[in-house]
Amino acid sequence: KKILVCFGTRPEAIKMCSLVHTLRQTDFDVKVCVTAQHRQMLDQVLDFFEITPDFDLDLMTANQSLNALSGRIFTKMDEVLASEQPDLVLVHGDTTTSSICAWAAFHRGIKTGHVEAGLRTYNKYAPFPEELNRQVTGRIADFHFAPTPVSKQNLLNEHIQPEAIAVTGNTVIDSLLWTVDKLENRFSNPKIAELETQIDFSKKVILVTGHRRENFGDGFLNICKALAHIAEQADVQIVYPVHLNPNVQQPVQALLSSHANIHLIEPLDYPTFVWMMKQSYLIITDSGGVQEEAPSLGKPVLVMRETTERPEALEAGTVKLVGTDADKIAREAFVLLEDHALYEKMSRAHNPYGDGKASQRIVEFLKAEL
Ligand code: UDP
Repeated sequence: KKILVCFGTRPEAIKMCSLVHTLRQTDFDVKVCVTAQHRQMLDQVLDFFEITPDFDLDLMTANQSLNALSGRIFTKMDEVLASEQPDLVLVHGDTTTSSICAWAAFHRGIKTGHVEAGLRTYNKYAPFPEELNRQVTGRIADFHFAPTPVSKQNLLNEHIQPEAIAVTGNTVIDSLLWTVDKLENRFSNPKIAELETQIDFSKKVILVTGHRRENFGDGFLNICKALAHIAEQADVQIVYPVHLNPNVQQPVQALLSSHANIHLIEPLDYPTFVWMMKQSYLIITDSGGVQEEAPSLGKPVLVMRETTERPEALEAGTVKLVGTDADKIAREAFVLLEDHALYEKMSRAHNPYGDGKASQRIVEFLKAEL
């Protein structure tokens, strides 16, 4: 049977590459198609995981609108589906690539499997457009790979048949553990050596990332205000790989580039980012993937969002939701810098997102179903 694995952005690639590795150890005929919704950040991941796409739609354009991007994905995916005629299309998560690739497969009567299925806020504007993307993909998919029992329950509540759902854990942990192993055993990177000279690792390092549309505008202005306030502490180093989206670059560069304790750097390739997470004391982010990874490295996370589709992390106590109020972000960061008992409790909490065997579970399910 032929499986076409489709993705387009950095986080999807990180989460799908370990699954591609696992699928390639089976008898399935596995083809990889990338839309390249992100170009540079996607290529970094493909290089590291040593995956060469069979189809590269190369669709990214400057300032792409979601509608124009969707139109291009429909057109190009249709050509790939027509020529390849796969038995199954696998998509991931909540991007425009995921929902449109699933929809294109549906139009051609091809089955779809959804990896990282069932995450929900049930607020269609938060996160925008991800919540709608994953709901649409969930309506279309024939097989649903839910990372946790919570996400399975969401799908059951939406009348998805239980036989069509497998609880697998999140494939991001598979990729993370693979990367940690590679970092420890057989990987060296000039970027890591460069960071070692730039950053004072004898201080507490706070790693920051942010990219959500829902935080564009006032959200990012508040986030910058909070970071500037935290950076007044003499014993911290803030390391912020700034997402390439101009809505993020513009306020961050304008407001934070002249602070002594803040290092604004380019987005890091995945292994270097994992290395940075390992070196950090605390992570402040609006990222989904980082919230899932950090507990496996014992790092507490402050989440700069008002709502979350990842309640498991709140429940387990590995993250704290702090919104985008500047005072609140700074206050919670100061608490974690000072309250050692709380810090230890958060950093030792169990990671609810998996054990590194999610890809194996997905493959076992597909062997039985296809
Ligand atoms: N990441 C990376 N380099 C960076 C920042 C993040 O490789 O400079 C990784 C991170 O480890 C995680 C993923 O990118 O696996 C998260 O991507 P992002 O925050 O863009 O998206 P989200 O997870 O919110 O969908």
